[in-house]
Amino acid sequence: MNSEKKGINTICTHTGEVEDTQYRGAISPLFMATSYQYDGMDEKRYPRSFNSPNQVALGKKIAALEKCEAGMIFGSGMAAISHCLLAFLKQGDHIILPETLYGGTYNFVVKELPKFGIEFSFAKGFSEIDFTSEIKKNTKIIYIETPSNPLMKITDLEMIGRIAKQHNLLSIIDNTFASPINQTPADFGIDIIIHSATKYMGGHSDISAGAIACSQEHKDKIWETSINMGGHLSDYTVWLLERSLKTMALRVKAQSKNAKKMAKWLEQHQLVSKVYYPGLKSHPDHALAKKQMKRYTGMLSFELLPELDAIEFMRALKLVKYSMSLAGIESTILSPAETSHFLLTKEERKKQGISDGLLRFSVGIEETNDLIFDFEQAFQLVTKKQLV
Ligand SMILES: *Cc1c(COP(=O)(O)O)cnc(C)c1O
Repeated sequence: MNSEKKGINTICTHTGEVEDTQYRGAISPLFMATSYQYDGMDEKRYPRSFNSPNQVALGKKIAALEKCEAGMIFGSGMAAISHCLLAFLKQGDHIILPETLYGGTYNFVVKELPKFGIEFSFAKGFSEIDFTSEIKKNTKIIYIETPSNPLMKITDLEMIGRIAKQHNLLSIIDNTFASPINQTPADFGIDIIIHSATKYMGGHSDISAGAIACSQEHKDKIWETSINMGGHLSDYTVWLLERSLKTMALRVKAQSKNAKKMAKWLEQHQLVSKVYYPGLKSHPDHALAKKQMKRYTGMLSFELLPELDAIEFMRALKLVKYSMSLAGIESTILSPAETSHFLLTKEERKKQGISDGLLRFSVGIEETNDLIFDFEQAFQLVTKKQLV
């Protein structure tokens, strides 16, 4: 059956299962074998060959979610990103990336790619000219993230897909922040879609994994490199990730709805100076986000009035956890200046628009009334402290 015709919850629940032909159980059985008979079999199976039964089945679910032909699962988002880039880049090649890039990807690019003689440029902004002006004779890939972290800037997917085709480049997106529930970049001609499945796909802050969706041809190429790099995910975790994905649409829709409510509430709050959320009409890229996203994600950032101590505010929260990472069903909050952008100087952060008072909020599935109550008591505490 053509998965594109099925509803998103049906794909999440049913597509890409290992069929239990022996006992007819309702869920995928788990195959932990690292040794498979090869004589008389259609394929030589081995976990690091990314072809154990659970890996193959879950790859199909990822592909269906991203409206692509093929999918692959990895041990982390960074394994997916690094294996993919090294599959397509060789000595003398060049890649274009956005200036605001996930920290791990940035480090991989600047520290590892030069060892292979691979060149890179960072686009100075998010418009067409910012990307096309970086294209060189040896450019092979345009790589993007949208919405961006942490300021939620939007890159035009249709524009990137078009530029890539015009210049015969491969287009790659890190779709982690949106999740396939909120954004399917294949609709806009993007070639390869990567996820840190540690985030919305896992969704419960207990799985480290990565995923790629693309054409069969591109998958074959990524696979050739990946079996030499060994970044596969253990089958037990593959099985857990399949379970998580069954509720992904329910979770992400609830989180996105909550985020929109929280963004609106924060925007009118007198102690908040700015809210960054593409679902707000005040967001400069709102129209573009509306065009290419189904929903505006469960992530948002905001700034307190400069005279308030943002760190004190986070410490005062009781329900919302002051912690790293994102996209779990529980709400979490962090300071980019303390975490993802800690290695930059204050000046560099300022240039990127990241103030010390900026907070990134990953909205969970709790009732928004409870989140608001928690924020209010924390606001009261920091304003009281400010006065004494
Ligand atoms: C977390 C994250 C990654 C890296 O994923 P890991 O699973 O931690 O390796 C890549 N891109 C984005 C946007 C992320 O948030």
